[in-house]
Amino acid sequence: MLHNSAHRIMSTQPQHHEVAILGAGPAGLTAAIYAARARLDTVVFEGPQPGGQLTITTEVENYPGFEHGIQGPELMDIFRRQAQRFGARSIYETIVRVDFAQYPFLLWSDTGTLYSADAVIIATGASAKRLGVPGEQEYMGYGISACATCDGFFFRDQHVYVVGGGDTAMEEALFLTRFARQVTIIHRRQEFRASKIMQERVRSNPKIDFLLDTVVEEFLGEARDGTRRLTAIRVRNVRSGAEQVLPADGVFIAIGHQPNTEIFRGFLEMDEQGYILTHPKSTHTNIPGVFACGDVQDRVYRQAITAAGSGCMAAIDAERWLEARRHGKD
Ligand code: NDP
Repeated sequence: MLHNSAHRIMSTQPQHHEVAILGAGPAGLTAAIYAARARLDTVVFEGPQPGGQLTITTEVENYPGFEHGIQGPELMDIFRRQAQRFGARSIYETIVRVDFAQYPFLLWSDTGTLYSADAVIIATGASAKRLGVPGEQEYMGYGISACATCDGFFFRDQHVYVVGGGDTAMEEALFLTRFARQVTIIHRRQEFRASKIMQERVRSNPKIDFLLDTVVEEFLGEARDGTRRLTAIRVRNVRSGAEQVLPADGVFIAIGHQPNTEIFRGFLEMDEQGYILTHPKSTHTNIPGVFACGDVQDRVYRQAITAAGSGCMAAIDAERWLEARRHGKD
């Protein structure tokens, strides 16, 4: 649960650590494995979603090393245990405020505790935007997904919907045609925001059709075989107001992602969408000693394996930076 930080900040003596990692998805936990194994005193602030986005997916089939696939939450538990084996410590708090103008860097958590760190690795990830309609939360992971690459395979020969009109929606729809019998794109307007080339590809694909000027109002489902499952969606035409309930095997929500970078504004350089900018081929941000890895700085690949790779890079960058600093080279 998030607390009102303004009222809870009370501690003044910071608890100090060499490396503070913010976020516990594949990027953060891989950074923790490498930092702790390098004998750095390492803490991981698990944040509001311990394990990150993989905890809201079911089976992960494309993470190398797991030939027969693995459940997302289980994979993250393995990452965490591996980090803890080398001495990394998980703190189940969310950092709600930072001060990177001070050194050591200062971090306040939602419990009011003040921490300080010699190096900070930001791995707070990105969150898929949600529609915020009834049933969405309930059936997320049970027929609703925000990642075709992750879950498309489960919808072989089925009829799926993609919500959104940007490049991600087009890309998801095209990818889904490899598996699904039919893909219907639901978009709230007539015009697509997506690039022309993506629109052309989508329009020329015989498996894809469109439901325009339309919004999803509700996700409907049932309990089946001891679990729950999405079965239908209630949609509304925004021009006529007409509503209908459509059978649906799966719905992919592709209305954009949002990097979780709000608390770093004013300190770190970001692009116009709030993704943290890192130096080319490294994880250094504009502030020496602050590093960023995973989806918080990657709007292109967004895969567990690429996040883990950049987490490894961040820990190595941090270790080298701390070492250089110790020898007065920074
Ligand atoms: P965008 O912000 O470009 O598009 C989001 C889409 O979702 C829009 O069509 C928007 O509708 C719709 N939308 C937003 N909120 C809602 C809502 N609450 N209900 C219904 N619909 C909603 O996000 P993308 O993720 O598609 O793309 C992000 C960036 O990444 C873009 O710059 C894109 O070009 C880039 N990208 C590039 C790719 C490539 O080049 N291959 C692949 C994927 C992404 P509306 O248009 O009405 O606002």
